[in-house]
Amino acid sequence: FKNYIGPEAIINKKKEHLYPCTNHFYKNPPQLVRGEMQYLYDQKGNQYLDFFAGVSVVNCGHCNPIILEATITQLKQLQHTTTIYLSQPMVELAEKLASVLPGNIKHSFFCTSGSEANEGALLLARLYTGRQSFIALEGSLHGRTHLTASGTGIDMWRTDPYMDDSFHFIPNIAAFDEPPEKAAKLSIKALKKLLKEKGKDIAAMIIEPIQGNGGIITPPLNYFQDIQKLLHKYGILLIVDEVQTGFARTGKMFAIEHYQVIPDIITMAKALGNGIPISAFCTNPTIANAFNKPSASTLGGNQVACETALAVLKYIDENHLCQRTQELGTTLHQGLLKLKDKYPILKEVRGIGLMLGAELIKKDGTPATNETDTILETLKDNGIILGKNGIHRNVLAFQPPLIITQRDIKNLLNQLDSALKQVSFN
Ligand code: PMP
Repeated sequence: FKNYIGPEAIINKKKEHLYPCTNHFYKNPPQLVRGEMQYLYDQKGNQYLDFFAGVSVVNCGHCNPIILEATITQLKQLQHTTTIYLSQPMVELAEKLASVLPGNIKHSFFCTSGSEANEGALLLARLYTGRQSFIALEGSLHGRTHLTASGTGIDMWRTDPYMDDSFHFIPNIAAFDEPPEKAAKLSIKALKKLLKEKGKDIAAMIIEPIQGNGGIITPPLNYFQDIQKLLHKYGILLIVDEVQTGFARTGKMFAIEHYQVIPDIITMAKALGNGIPISAFCTNPTIANAFNKPSASTLGGNQVACETALAVLKYIDENHLCQRTQELGTTLHQGLLKLKDKYPILKEVRGIGLMLGAELIKKDGTPATNETDTILETLKDNGIILGKNGIHRNVLAFQPPLIITQRDIKNLLNQLDSALKQVSFN
């Protein structure tokens, strides 16, 4: 085992050797050194119940031994050849994804991060349509590369002072102080107006079925169908970013299935590798034909990552993680709604399956950003790790590994009850 230097020394070394952009959660962050399914351990051996799964990454649990077995076996056999040689794991993974993806989506290109998958999807839409521009939603997050950051609708993630001007933004449902159905209509009205003016220049619209970093923004069920109908009238493709929502997170393999929409292009990353870097953009045979000039990613879809992803898909299937997530998600959702009745600071509970958010608003109607931080810190000190998101950083995010138990949920709800009591009466 390593000689652990501890949180303080890590923070000092970060200041000395990383960039100031590398922020961290928590006033007193732990040094996490070990993971075991839904649990994390710090350098002193303290246990934490993980309710964030590294932002929807370890859906199958930390260091899941069954998945690790596949990773390690491949790692020992062949670690790297570039993907220009024939690779059986890569074609097997593409074939397996085709069997779980909606509609006629059967072609995959593998890369290593969510940003790269979205960048590829945007390129593919340009190649297919011959058009340059895109539409994205306010509150979205699609990545860190130039084009994907330009298509990101959250100010804090738009770092480049010279953003690409190919993107038009329309308001998401959270932009209106209206119930979801009404807000969806207003958002679509804005889309209609934009399409009338610019529709012929637009290659694709990119959306997250549930906006993760935007604050678990969950549109009503007809929203994306209405959007896609409009887009198709103008020959515009719909790119669905499932980077945070994919792989049983919402109780279906992909969140867009709840909305009964078949994307033209779908992107995925995070949970596909359960912690091993792998991502993909996938489409149907017609659109796939447009991507015909040579292109390859050195490490994208390497044999270790593909064998891992195959094991992930098998694990999700054999352990009925979609079904399990629906059941656990219902318990957690109901528990959070009870807390909402008890504590007025908890303004809204939203999301599907085990991608849930609780928005905290103060009595004066402003975002309860400090209270959100206090709750996160208190829970962490009591051994539970939660997420935080939303454009005002006031949404508690519940995105645990999907292998948690009903007991874990009870434990979380009890701890949250105490923490909410503390911030409500302070
Ligand atoms: N899309 C979504 C919806 C995301 O949540 C993220 C990362 N949080 C990305 C894209 C970018 O993924 P990556 O960090 O792997 O580049």
